[in-house]
Amino acid sequence: MNQDGGHEQSVARPNLALFGAPPAFEQELYVGRPNPIDREAFFERLNGVLDRNWLTNAGPLVREFETRIAQLCGVRHCVAMCNGTVALEIAIRALGLRGEVIVPSYTFVATAHALQWQEITPVFCDIDPETHLIDPKRAAELITPRTSGIIGVHTWGRVCDVEGLTALAEEKGLRLLFDAAHALGCSRGGESVGNFGEAEVLSFHATKYLNTFEGGAVLTNSDELAEKMRLMKNFGFIRTDEVIHIGTNGKMSEVSAAMGLTALDSIDRFTDHNRQNHETYRESLQDVPGVRFLEYAQGDKQNYQYAVVEVDPHEAGLSRDELVAVLHKENVLARRYFWPGCHRMEPYRSLFPHAGLLLPETERVAERVIVLPNGMAIDSDIIRTIARILRDATSHADDVRKVVGRARVHLSPPLPRGMEDAPDDAAR
Ligand SMILES: *Cc1c(COP(=O)(O)O)cnc(C)c1O
Repeated sequence: MNQDGGHEQSVARPNLALFGAPPAFEQELYVGRPNPIDREAFFERLNGVLDRNWLTNAGPLVREFETRIAQLCGVRHCVAMCNGTVALEIAIRALGLRGEVIVPSYTFVATAHALQWQEITPVFCDIDPETHLIDPKRAAELITPRTSGIIGVHTWGRVCDVEGLTALAEEKGLRLLFDAAHALGCSRGGESVGNFGEAEVLSFHATKYLNTFEGGAVLTNSDELAEKMRLMKNFGFIRTDEVIHIGTNGKMSEVSAAMGLTALDSIDRFTDHNRQNHETYRESLQDVPGVRFLEYAQGDKQNYQYAVVEVDPHEAGLSRDELVAVLHKENVLARRYFWPGCHRMEPYRSLFPHAGLLLPETERVAERVIVLPNGMAIDSDIIRTIARILRDATSHADDVRKVVGRARVHLSPPLPRGMEDAPDDAAR
């Protein structure tokens, strides 16, 4: 008899850390670990910043960074900012959004906060379960006389149904903005992100495909909008001593631009590496029951930054959370993005306690998604080992469930000291 009072296992226990084996990885593997850059080139740019002693306020590196991002995306204007959230807030204000704005709940909480922070009500819209993107049919049902706009989110770098959303926005006279924090370098129908809706917002946070430590930008083809946002991100100054608009401090610093420019020099390497990783994930997860690797539409450009699987608990014999617990024990710090959905976070949970009733697909997907480690620190051997772990877990599902239940594994590790109020996906 073993300690559960059951019979001894007739087969050997699987080689999993959950059962006491050494973890598959000595070092923790993270989702969104910053991609390494050419340090020499970065330090050279930094020296230039210090030599010029021009640290911020539309310095030469920020302007160069804006030009290169605009070129990369084939868009007229890139307005660089201090982070993606402030870029969203400024774009929302520049577009004159007010009242209610339709957004997916299945997104990083900043998309909703950027509205609520300005006393605009985020109205949470369900997603298409196949793509994880805002569903224009559901959005149409949420329009009221108070609705002023729609914010689509290009989750995982998959571009929204921009045709459906554009048609809806035009028909109803709504403004259309995109949160493109995941989608730098992605395209749909041959058109690059940056050209959809009236503006699109990028994030260059440390965890993103391209980082500037902290940073963001708004892309737009509208001269008027770009002009307005340039004023807004610099307190409304048009020239020294002359303020012509309300504004805030949304400026990107030269140090951030130095990082961004250096990362841009390596961006093709990041994409190639991530694409190779995707191929390996796809192949090696094929024979893991109930674990479906999310693929991209053929033909369009991708950055392949996110390696996402959806767990079918019936087929896998284990829930998403049980599989994440197994992975964490092996030092694979997989994440449950965007669990539990914005509508189940404060203040939205209290403001809209019944929002979930209209979000069945969001709730289902949020219970099933695992984001796996990707990026330059992850290679094919690592990925095959991760697949092996998932395969072993599903083929010993009953034992895994018992042990996870007993161990009460923590799936949301506490934030590092001093970061307790930082975004959930804070870089480590
Ligand atoms: C990261 C992220 C943001 C916020 O960007 P920051 O640069 O961290 O402020 C907004 N929306 C989505 C979807 C994101 O992933």
